[in-house]
Amino acid sequence: MSEGGAAPLWCELAWLGEERAEAGVLIELNGDRIASVTTGVAAPPANADSLPGLTIPGFANAHSHAFHRALRGRTQAGRGDFWAWRRRMYEVAEAIDPESYLVLARATFAEMALAGITAVGEFHYLHHGPGGARYENPNEVGEAVIAAAGDAGIRITLLDTCYLHGGIDREPEGAQLRFSDGSAEAWAERVEALRPGPRARIGAAIHSVRAVDPESAERVAAFAAERSWPLHAHVSEQPAENEDCRAAYGTSPTALLADGGVLSERFTAVHETHPADGDFGLLGSNGCRVCLCPTTERDLADGVGPARRLTEAGVNLCLGTDSQAVIDMFEEARAVELDERLESGVRGGHPAAELLRAATAGGGESIGWPEGGRIEPGGLADLVTVGLAGVRLAGAGPEHLIESLVFAGAAGDVRHVMVGGELVVRDGMHLRLDAAAELARAIAMLPA
Ligand SMILES: [Zn+2]
Repeated sequence: MSEGGAAPLWCELAWLGEERAEAGVLIELNGDRIASVTTGVAAPPANADSLPGLTIPGFANAHSHAFHRALRGRTQAGRGDFWAWRRRMYEVAEAIDPESYLVLARATFAEMALAGITAVGEFHYLHHGPGGARYENPNEVGEAVIAAAGDAGIRITLLDTCYLHGGIDREPEGAQLRFSDGSAEAWAERVEALRPGPRARIGAAIHSVRAVDPESAERVAAFAAERSWPLHAHVSEQPAENEDCRAAYGTSPTALLADGGVLSERFTAVHETHPADGDFGLLGSNGCRVCLCPTTERDLADGVGPARRLTEAGVNLCLGTDSQAVIDMFEEARAVELDERLESGVRGGHPAAELLRAATAGGGESIGWPEGGRIEPGGLADLVTVGLAGVRLAGAGPEHLIESLVFAGAAGDVRHVMVGGELVVRDGMHLRLDAAAELARAIAMLPA
């Protein structure tokens, strides 16, 4: 496969969003977009680049905290719960500076590219210096994160996160001082100065009802609405969060956000592991999305989110690697179904194609790249080719190829990744940097 990307691409097999893959698909490109898609092309034309295997749209990772990549392994020893994990996470958050974050985020995003992720929604709250000291450029860390995605070759939506309190009615302390702008107005003033780029967009986030009071959440939502930005929030990740919210405001986090005008078709609730009965209707009727992060939710002992009930309420799902416990969107996708099977005793709540849509188009819509995640004319030329010759997928017949891919595929099966018509990964190798070496270098910059 050539690196220019100008030649048409002939895909041995391609997934065009239906239940089954199509054999022999010719994709013509126009700059960073798909110009045309022709099915039933039995053999590659002479001028085409041939892509053996199965080509799918690039994954959109709708919820990421890049710096959590440094926690991998460190938080897997000893007993504890979410709150014990959070103490370890704060230790890393306290140690990062813009230079080390650039290296760490670049390597983490390169790992994402290798896993077929072509766009990431970075839920960014590490804004300021140690103890809350202000950098001369108050967006220095956020701009480093945007630059890191550019270096790794993937798209990013920086979901700049408002974080004001250490808990309901608690001032921020320790690492949290770095997260806080002090007020929603100061948050807005800082965020106003962020600039998008060809592969970078800006969005907003409310950290949680723990960290943002209702009045401030309403201001953040109004600011995002004026700009038609995507808006995300962590919602009902933990039972303790629900209890605190109910004690303070007499309602669930989702209902509290609904009262403040936060819920809309641009809103994505991240987790919703423990919604109240009334929350399903609120999310569905407002056209909200829910981002499930199953590998993180299981890693943090959060619980299993009610994915099937959410989809039945009309909620579209998307997926995120969140804490980077692993970076593998196939694993996130199948976990939605498999974790629910363990709880429900019922199989088949989520067809494979539906899970793959959540990992691709669903994520793109959530993070403000709605033209991504679909192989169709006008769509972004963000394409991932999965090899079918490896042991995991060998023998997968055309009838059950999408099921094989979702339920047995792995990030390591990704062979080629194209972003905006540019090849970023070829034959399983990142073309710009040595992701493993960069990750080791970045993590060595942090305290053990
Ligand atoms: Zn998160």
